[in-house]
Amino acid sequence: MVDHRRLGRELELFHADPLSGAGLPIWLPAGAAARHSVEEYVRELERRAGYQHVYSPPLGKRELFELSGHLGYFADDMFPVLRLSADDEFVLRPALCPHHALVYRARGRSYRELPLRIAELGGMYRSERSGVLGGLSRVRAISLNDAHNFCAVGQVGAEVAEILDLIQVAHAALGVRPAGFRLSLRGPGEKYLGDDEMWQHAENLLRDALSGLPYVEAAGEAAFYGPKIDIQILDGAGRESTISTIQLDFDKPARFDLSYTDSSGGRSRPVMVHRSLVGSMERLFAYLIEVHSGAFPAWYAPVQVQVLPVGPEQLDAAEAFRRDCVRAGLRAELVGDGSLGARVRGAAQRRVPYAAVLGAREVSSGQVALRLRDGRAVEPMAAPDALRMIAGIVAAHSVELLP
Ligand SMILES: [Zn+2]
Repeated sequence: MVDHRRLGRELELFHADPLSGAGLPIWLPAGAAARHSVEEYVRELERRAGYQHVYSPPLGKRELFELSGHLGYFADDMFPVLRLSADDEFVLRPALCPHHALVYRARGRSYRELPLRIAELGGMYRSERSGVLGGLSRVRAISLNDAHNFCAVGQVGAEVAEILDLIQVAHAALGVRPAGFRLSLRGPGEKYLGDDEMWQHAENLLRDALSGLPYVEAAGEAAFYGPKIDIQILDGAGRESTISTIQLDFDKPARFDLSYTDSSGGRSRPVMVHRSLVGSMERLFAYLIEVHSGAFPAWYAPVQVQVLPVGPEQLDAAEAFRRDCVRAGLRAELVGDGSLGARVRGAAQRRVPYAAVLGAREVSSGQVALRLRDGRAVEPMAAPDALRMIAGIVAAHSVELLP
């Protein structure tokens, strides 16, 4: 079993520094390049599915989080309130929902706008105890792929089904190993908002959305404001965990007095669906690093092509090929020093999907010889064809290295 902390260090993906603080890792250039590709992919997937993206601050007025219920029900997981003066207090937000409720009510809404899907990859904070922190799997500063879909009650079933489809598309592209669905319900205790009728209604809607799919029920795993569907995945050691969730919430629309004008001209209350396709970037990458042993699909590999001239005579041709790769949108670098064998091994050790070797024979015929990180060798092919093939695999977000 690989540990993402060790691989994160070896592959220079992220850095934990005591001066930065426990649970506050720094993404290094290689990790940032991979994360950037994943963020772009998810944003585009959402845009095509009708989501509208917003930016909201990771800090908000204390009153906002009193209204949302977070300070009443979730304060143990939050950082202490920041006090500028007696009537000016701020909170590092533990969730994005309160800001997105403000987006919804920034103006009047009509039933024609629903479902209204507000998305953001936003920062939030949790005051985890330092003893449980390590690497990327548990952190104090979280970058969440989040959205809140405001819909009419009658739209919830179709909306949840559509979200489940999107999650499965994203998981396939990322190379996530699926492990079924879990319906997370209330447990005993007082830590839940809202009345029984509301919970019953929300649970029934989620059961309907899951009908026909294999799922298990888990008491005590719900959010404090509503039941949720957890999309379970398997890690490298075969253990189950959760990165993607869909939660139903009748409570926040009431607290924020959200409404829309319905088709008969009256005022109706929307339902809020909280959903994350891939979870937080930190948890996601802790998982992806381990499940792929650092060998990400080419589309989000930090370096996608390493160009290796056999000798100094091939340096110019190699540099020209590297530039062509970069112009085609690929992340490519040239490594010229050391024996060819050592460089091919070095590229594979750094999990670079493609090493493009240029010897005298390849240069004279305008070709490159591709070596894959898994040891496979491809027959020399015309340089533009090789480039087109790699760019095609990257653009298709394929998990395979060859078509
Ligand atoms: Zn939310």
